[in-house]
Amino acid sequence: MKDQQDKKKWKSELEPEQYNTLFEKGTERPFTGKYYHHKEDGTYLCAACGNALFDSDTKYESGSGWPSFYKPLKTEAVAEEKDISHGMVRTEIQCSNCGGHLGHVFPDGPNPTGMRYCINSSSLKFKKRK
Ligand code: FE
Repeated sequence: MKDQQDKKKWKSELEPEQYNTLFEKGTERPFTGKYYHHKEDGTYLCAACGNALFDSDTKYESGSGWPSFYKPLKTEAVAEEKDISHGMVRTEIQCSNCGGHLGHVFPDGPNPTGMRYCINSSSLKFKKRK
């Protein structure tokens, strides 16, 4: 199965925490992620495949404990999936390129979209704007 081969490949290439979040749908503990208070100017990429996901211009302080953005870099950069785990109905956000789990989206964000993309730091890597 291709999916299993991909997982094996990612397991060998990623840090254990990144693998747990991205490919076992783990959630990092709130207020612990390396990008929660990160304010540099640039682009957040998928920590696995490098797909460009979010721009620092759309990042804001949500108080949630996880990096929060009000929109993805491009609509097609992320995929949405209904998630009914943990007794909640939520919308999961995945990297549209590799299928890695990023976090969830909630309809309580700021203008202009009103959405909060609540993303694990361990799903991301950062590329500084030159
Ligand atoms: Fe990816």
